[in-house]
Amino acid sequence: MKNATFKIIQLHASEMDNFSYLIYCPKTLRGAAVDPSMRPELLLDAIKKHAIQLEFLLNTHGHADHISGNKLILDHTGAKLAAHPADMPTADILLAEGSEIVLGEGTIEVMHTPGHTPGSVVFKTDQQIITGDTLFVSRCGRADLPGSDVVALYQSLQRLKKLPEETRIYPGHNYGPTPTSTIGWELKNNEYLKCPDLQSFTTLRLGG
Ligand SMILES: [Zn+2]
Repeated sequence: MKNATFKIIQLHASEMDNFSYLIYCPKTLRGAAVDPSMRPELLLDAIKKHAIQLEFLLNTHGHADHISGNKLILDHTGAKLAAHPADMPTADILLAEGSEIVLGEGTIEVMHTPGHTPGSVVFKTDQQIITGDTLFVSRCGRADLPGSDVVALYQSLQRLKKLPEETRIYPGHNYGPTPTSTIGWELKNNEYLKCPDLQSFTTLRLGG
């Protein structure tokens, strides 16, 4: 339970229902911002309000609706940009499967979850995952965009399905009936996770 201390603040950051996140260790007030989207000033306000020392700016993937606020955050905080090189080749810290981001008294683990984009990642603590556009509440990311790979997305979702059922999901967009959920809820209610095989997933995701 070494990561039980992390706090996550969810912010509504665009007209496209994007979520930004501020994740921090409440004991040390060391934090990371995730996907500033179109309203990075909301993150700056939250950083100031909670007196967070921002160490990292994390991107779940390289789509414009997630990264367009990067510059404002980097300019105002001195944080280092961390992302997967397949989407963000010029990031300060290049993430890969298994990368660990130490934040105060906890560690965020990186899962490389390609499919929506080649460089999509999930940020994982012991009890939480920040899933970008790989997994939403009741849905999953698109697989018909340039760089998308429906087979890779299926495989990435199979990995997320194996996480403990109580794992709380913080998605990249507010597309579901609730702003967050759990792996257990998704296993029962998400049609994409309930697909029994790749064939049925491909048909549901891309149309038959
Ligand atoms: Zn996206």
